[in-house]
Amino acid sequence: MKNILLVFCLLAAGTGFVRAGGLTLASHGKSGYVIIIPEKATPVEKKAADEFRRLFALSSSVELPVCTDARRPSAREIVIGNTSRSNSAADTSGLQQDGFVIRTDRKSLSIRGGSEKGVLYGVYTFFDKYLGYRCYSPTVFKYPTLAKVTVAAGIADRQVPVNLYRNVFYEVADDPFYADWHKLDHMKPDWGMWVHTFAQLLPPDRYFAEHPEYYALVDGKRVGMQADGHLCAQLCLTDPDVLETVVENLGDRMREQPDALYWSVSQNDTYAEHGYNCACPSCRELDEQAGAPSGSVVAFANRVAARFPDKMISTLAYRYSRTAPKGIRPADNVNIMLCDIECNRHRPIETDPTSRAFRTDFEEWGKIAKSILMWDYVIQFSNLMAPYPNLRTLQPNMQYFVRNGVTAQFQQGNISKGGEFCELRPYLVARLLWNPDVDIRAELADFLSGYYEEAGPHIAAYIDLMHDELEKSGLPLTIYGKPYDHYEKGYMRPELFARYEVLFDEAEKAVVSKPDVLERVRVARLPLTFSLFEIAKARGTAEDRVFEQADGRWRVRPEITTLLDDFHALCNKVKIRHFVEGGVSPDEYCRQTREALEAATRK
Ligand SMILES: [Zn+2]
Repeated sequence: MKNILLVFCLLAAGTGFVRAGGLTLASHGKSGYVIIIPEKATPVEKKAADEFRRLFALSSSVELPVCTDARRPSAREIVIGNTSRSNSAADTSGLQQDGFVIRTDRKSLSIRGGSEKGVLYGVYTFFDKYLGYRCYSPTVFKYPTLAKVTVAAGIADRQVPVNLYRNVFYEVADDPFYADWHKLDHMKPDWGMWVHTFAQLLPPDRYFAEHPEYYALVDGKRVGMQADGHLCAQLCLTDPDVLETVVENLGDRMREQPDALYWSVSQNDTYAEHGYNCACPSCRELDEQAGAPSGSVVAFANRVAARFPDKMISTLAYRYSRTAPKGIRPADNVNIMLCDIECNRHRPIETDPTSRAFRTDFEEWGKIAKSILMWDYVIQFSNLMAPYPNLRTLQPNMQYFVRNGVTAQFQQGNISKGGEFCELRPYLVARLLWNPDVDIRAELADFLSGYYEEAGPHIAAYIDLMHDELEKSGLPLTIYGKPYDHYEKGYMRPELFARYEVLFDEAEKAVVSKPDVLERVRVARLPLTFSLFEIAKARGTAEDRVFEQADGRWRVRPEITTLLDDFHALCNKVKIRHFVEGGVSPDEYCRQTREALEAATRK
């Protein structure tokens, strides 16, 4: 019996188990409750209380008073932060920066948090989880109108994220309210320098002329720049003056941002197969000892880290440096930023045979590094607008990362406005970053019915069909692919395209009387239209959905010209910025597409 009781108590404490009975926080526009904050509340506690008050008023029409704990306790209190109230004795140890605990007893509610934004996250989670508020996007925020605001007694909901750093690199996350609602981190203030920093710490235009030996020896020559003339080459990581100069320049930057903990000392980006890393005898010796070019990278990061024992020095395991070194391990204050840019997305990384080499590298890093940030990619990079059925891999990948020691994640999507499902994907990724074991099917269904309303089931069917067909095809889904890759045998086959079109016709019909929602559906449809244009460019006049013959000559079908005009207008109306990262605006894309289609008719 004792054991049974113990199990019951553990369940009650650990899973947010709720006892019978409940609290009526407001009824028909009236409430006897008061918000209590500490007399010396921190800015986050004040904000958390203000946000509670503001959000509560939305559904209840009640403006709750906010008082400090200097006031005599009363029966009905909503206690926010570390107050002197007895019911705030809830255990806050182990909440770290962002964790929180939400508790209710028979009459009061309390929300406390960790050392940074925990209490604010607790407030937002309370409204999301217990009262049904949703922030689907910065412009679509939903809440119920409640005659009675009730919450169960006996809630003991303690949440501490497994990912301490949660960055969703999507335009929506630039919105401060959205970011806080979804418990996301941004680079600042924690990160002083982010990535690809060799060129900033030792700029070739400043040092190369006088000190070519600071830079990589590539094919027998010291080079400051890569062959493209745009990206910088890597540094000679065993040159003692390189270390001293980098330490000096980094120290200057640290003095300007003393609060930043993480400082990137990491290789420059490269688009070529060649890493432009140094092949001088001493760099090569380190790399050979380590069995991988990461040998000199980790040795250098460790030396820099030794000069700044109170900071975390972050370095990349990316492309040429992705394989973990042998015989050397990153210092305790070195963070490894590991990138899975080569991995396919048609299957989870953990089970995809084509990701075997990545898995080996990842698991080896997991054995030697104390701090790993996963740099993951969740969108088709070469065509941000392309249909990209990777949603089923999001959760297994996230679970795999965390199981192998990842505690920080940068989830790279599309930072400029637009791209396929640019509200849905960051929403799901944010939920997974907080809790990789969340019921993702339920989250997906909730988003689709909340954001697309009556069109939701049709879009759900579209997503399911496309994912099913990708899986059936067995074709790889890469981050550098294009719709035509899946045209002949994959999920972009014409007969499937026709079915997708029917689903979107039904979706639009379902919300035809709601202009705002209809626009969201039409935006979700843009990738499908985009894929038709791209396939037509690849196939030329063989693509009879786009081209036809009239009077013995090829021409673009008039309805396609109209479709492109509508596509162009909608892209501009909703301010989509880029079709590929950093370039190609809708105006440029549509002009190029018109020209390409016209050119195809002349071939
Ligand atoms: Zn060297």
